[in-house]
Order: sequence, then structure tokens, then C-alpha cells
Amino acid sequence: MLAIINAELVMRDHLIPEAVLFVEDGKIAGFGEMRNTPIPEGCEILDAEGLYVGPGLIDIHNHAGGGHWYYDEPIEAAQFNLKHGTTTNLACLYFNMNGQQLLEQIATVKAAMATPEGESIVGFYMECPYMNPKFGADRENNPWKGPILKEEYQPVIDAVGTDAKVWVLAPERENILQFVLDARENNPTVKFSVGHSEASPQQIEALMPYGLCIGTHHTNATGDRVFYPEVRGVCVDETVNYNREIYAEMICDSRGIHVDPYMQRLIRKIKGEDRLILISDSCVFDGPIPDGYDGVTDLCFDFAGEIAGSKLSLDVACRNMMKHTGASIVDVFRYASYNPSRAIGLLDRGEIAVGKRADLVIVDHRMKVNKVIFKGELK
Ligand SMILES: [Zn+2]
Repeated sequence: MLAIINAELVMRDHLIPEAVLFVEDGKIAGFGEMRNTPIPEGCEILDAEGLYVGPGLIDIHNHAGGGHWYYDEPIEAAQFNLKHGTTTNLACLYFNMNGQQLLEQIATVKAAMATPEGESIVGFYMECPYMNPKFGADRENNPWKGPILKEEYQPVIDAVGTDAKVWVLAPERENILQFVLDARENNPTVKFSVGHSEASPQQIEALMPYGLCIGTHHTNATGDRVFYPEVRGVCVDETVNYNREIYAEMICDSRGIHVDPYMQRLIRKIKGEDRLILISDSCVFDGPIPDGYDGVTDLCFDFAGEIAGSKLSLDVACRNMMKHTGASIVDVFRYASYNPSRAIGLLDRGEIAVGKRADLVIVDHRMKVNKVIFKGELK
């Protein structure tokens, strides 16, 4: 048994200071304040030296890590993110790829998932194929801008199988319901997310009974449906804010470019402590850096000089969230571990509780990662 001593345990809604946590057989076996929790003889000891010990971070929306695309170098990406505290990751594929390319990428990631080094990848976040090409992804040449055709999408659904955890879609696209039904046929518990879209509230809400419960990078790549000048329209952002059941993903970069710090505080207020999910949306685009962004290291620009994801890891996103909104360490662990685990139904992790997987991260007060424990093993 491993005993992590002198730990500030980050629980779902409180802290346990000067605590010890026990790990056995890859699971959390117990914990408590050191002053009244005896440490059994023969325990291996790990001294957290007063740092915070929280549940491993869970990144549901991430394309890359440390300059490696998941679709190309999944092990390198996973290992980079693991060092930054991400013990569970969905590999994100994108709708700039055609069907054949997606099939190859799915095979590459699946091969990595079957190895010990790629074990932190637990499935796919399919940011493809049917979004509104008006919002991102090489809009002129997008391979999926034509009609929704079963013969085109079914091979992708079949290849990804039950490893598909989330499909992002634009509810305004004609025949989207047929795609949703076929994706559910393949995996009845799969979740859907609205993204790269200008759907109306009614179009989005119509898909909620089928499992739509996430808003992809909330307030980014969404329309505004303004029908009359000087009157604010209602569109994707308003629908995600309005519906309590919908989780809002947020990219939190150092300058608050993806989401303005004021907007971050507003979203935090609206979505509350249990419906906000921090994501990295990390990418490897190396387009020209536009004027005014000199020295910004955590944003990605595509070939057209448009913002295309980030170069964040989730630990840094947590740090930025604390800076921009005043969120506490307990809050950011909820946004980056507990909430994402609930959104995609991974109930065996995401919090410090007896019997949960011993995926743990030791961090300082600014979320700088000191050590990572993956399934009970120090990494
Ligand atoms: Zn996106």
C-alpha cells in the first residue's frame, strides 16, 4: 500500500488539510487527517510536502499535446499531457479531414489506446463530420459541406465504434437527426455536443432527448442570428446558457482571448459549479501570428491567421481560470476533473473517494504540477 502523507486533499466541495491518502491495487483505499488516521506498518511513503493532492485531470476535448497531434503521434501527445496532470483524455478528430483520413486516424489512435503508454486515451471526441463549415475548418474546401449521406458517414461511425464518446454537430444541418440516430445505434450512451454552429434554440433543444448535453468551446465558433439591427439575437451561446442540463466547455488561455475574462466570470455565474468544463483544445497549427499577438505562446493560428485552438495543457488552463475569475483550487478541479467525468459518464474517476481510480495529481497553489500518479503508479 502507498501512503501519500502531508497532503492538502482537494475534495469535490472542500479541502482536507494535513491529510494522508492510501492507494492500493490502483484505487483510492482511504484517506483522512493525519492526526487521527494511523498509517499501517509497511506502507510505502510519498511525502506531498504540504502541496495539494487532487483527482487527475480529464480533458475531453483535446487534439494534441506538446506539438504532437493525437491522430499522428498519439503516444507522444498522451505522455506530454500525462506529465501535465491529464490522466484521462479523449482524442479529438476534426472535420477538416475526409472520410478516408478519419478512418486512418481512428486506427492510429485505437492502436495507441491498446498500449500501456497510450492508456490515458479512453476514446474519441469526434469534432466531425457535420458541423457548419461557416465556422472554422477550411470553409471553402471542407469535405463535409455537402448533403448528409449515410454512405459517407456510416463507415466512420462503424470504425470508431463504442470508443466514440462525444460527437459534435451543427443541429441546423439538414438530416442531422438521421446521423444522430445512426450514431446512437452504434453506441446508445454516446453524447452529442453543439459546436461550430448557428442553430436556433429550438433546433438545439430538439436534440437534447437524444443525448445532446455539451456546448463545444462555449462562445467560440458560434453564430448570433441577428435578424434586426441593434437587437441581440438568440443562438447557440444563449441556448447553452439557458439549459441547465447542458455542460459548457471553456478554453481558458492566459490572455482571455478565446473567452474574455468578463465572459468567463459570467459563464461561471450562469453554469454554476457543476456545469462548467475546462478543455485545452490543444492543436499544432503553426500559421502566421497576426499583429498584436506577439509573445502569446498558448494560442494556435491556422494558415489564414485565424485562431484555431490553443497550445494549452489543462493544468495551465486551470491556472488561467483562477487568474481570470478568482476560482478556487477546489473549483478548478471540479471544472477539469469531476464535471468532465460526469459529462461523459466515466463514474470510476474524477474525485477523491474510496474505490475510485487512483489517478492523482500533486500541484502547488498555482496548479503547477509536481507529481502525477496514474492508476496508483507514480509517473
Ligand atoms: Zn472546434
